[in-house]
Amino acid sequence: MDSLHARYPFLASAREAVRDANVDLAEIVAGEGDRHPAVERGVERVRRALLDGTARPPEDGRRWGTAAEVLSYPIARMLVSLLDAPGAVEKYASAEAATAYERFTEDFEAAAGDLKSTRGASLTLDTLLSDFDLSESVVERDDFGVAVGTYLSLVEGVDGDDWRLVTRRLSDGVVAVSEAELHELLRTAVEARVAADLPLSVPEEIADALDEEVAELESSFTDADFSHDIDTLAPGLFPPCMKHLLSQVRDGEALADHSEFALTAFLTSIGLDAGEILALCEVRTASRADRLRYRVERLRDERTAQYAPPSCASLQAYGDCVEPDERCETIRHPLAYYEKALDETGTVTDWRDREDTRLA
Ligand code: SF4
Repeated sequence: MDSLHARYPFLASAREAVRDANVDLAEIVAGEGDRHPAVERGVERVRRALLDGTARPPEDGRRWGTAAEVLSYPIARMLVSLLDAPGAVEKYASAEAATAYERFTEDFEAAAGDLKSTRGASLTLDTLLSDFDLSESVVERDDFGVAVGTYLSLVEGVDGDDWRLVTRRLSDGVVAVSEAELHELLRTAVEARVAADLPLSVPEEIADALDEEVAELESSFTDADFSHDIDTLAPGLFPPCMKHLLSQVRDGEALADHSEFALTAFLTSIGLDAGEILALCEVRTASRADRLRYRVERLRDERTAQYAPPSCASLQAYGDCVEPDERCETIRHPLAYYEKALDETGTVTDWRDREDTRLA
C-alpha cells in the first residue's frame, strides 16, 4: 500500500495491495481497545461524504497514515451498506468520485506544467485509463476521442443534452470530447466503480462490530437535519456565505465544485426545487441550467433534501465563509443562521411572491 493508493483507494491496484498485505478486515473492525485508525477514518469518510459531499479528511487537522487511508475505503463501503439512510450509497459514491476528480485534475495539471509532485503520489492520465481498462478506448487527437460504445456506457451517468450522441462529432467510431469532458467522463467511471456492488452483504460478525459506528453516523445525520420548518424563501436573510455564492452565480461566474455543492445543498435543504433554484440563480444558458438541474436532482428525493449543506467549519476551510456577521458568532451551520434570521425577523414576504427579484 502506498500513498497513491491512499489518495485513490478505488484503484484496482489499491485493491490488490490490500489483498497482498493479507489484512483481515474483520480483525481490524472487531479489535479490542481504541477504535482502529482505519475504522475511525472510515467513519469520517462516510460522514463527510454524506454531509459535505467530499471524501477528504475532516477539517479539524486529523490525519491518518497510508495504511489507514487505504483500508478506510473498504470499511467505509461496509458502513454505508449498513446505514439506514435514504440515498446513502448514491451520495457516498458521488462524494468519492468528486474527491477523486479534484485530485486527478490537479495531478494532470501539475504533470502538464511539469511540476514535481511533493507527495510522490500523482496519478497520470495513462495510469487512470489503464486501471479502468480504457487505454484502448480513449485516443488523443487535437483534443480527445472516445470509442462510441465506451462513450455511450460512460454517459449513462451524466445528464444534459450536450452529451447526447446526436450533438457530438463522430468519426471512425470515435466521439470527439474536450479534455474537460474526458475528465468528467472519468469522474462518472469512478462513481460507477465506487457504487458497484453496493450495498454489500456485510458478514454478521463485522456488522455487529460496527454497530456503534453506524449508530454514531445515523445520529449525526439527524443532528444536521434542520430543514423541516423552513418553507420561506427570503434571500435577503441568507447567511453572508450563501448570499455571496448566490451573487457570484447571478453574475455568471462559475463556482468551484465544493462551492456549487454548498449553495445547491443549502437551497434544496430549504425546500427549493430545480425550477426555483434556476430562477433564483438567474441561470440563462442551457449548459449551466443542465448542470445545475443535474446537481439539484442528485441532491433531492421527491419530498425533501437528502444532503445537508456543509457546516460553517467546512465552509471556512474552503474559503467560502465570507464576511461573517454578528449572528454568525451564535451558530455553527448556515441553515441554523437562516432559521434564526427568519425567527428574529418575523413576517417576511416570500421571494417567490415578490415582483422585485433582487436579493435584498
Ligand atoms: S459563519 Fe457560517 S453562516 Fe456565517 S458566513 Fe461563515 S459559513 Fe456562512
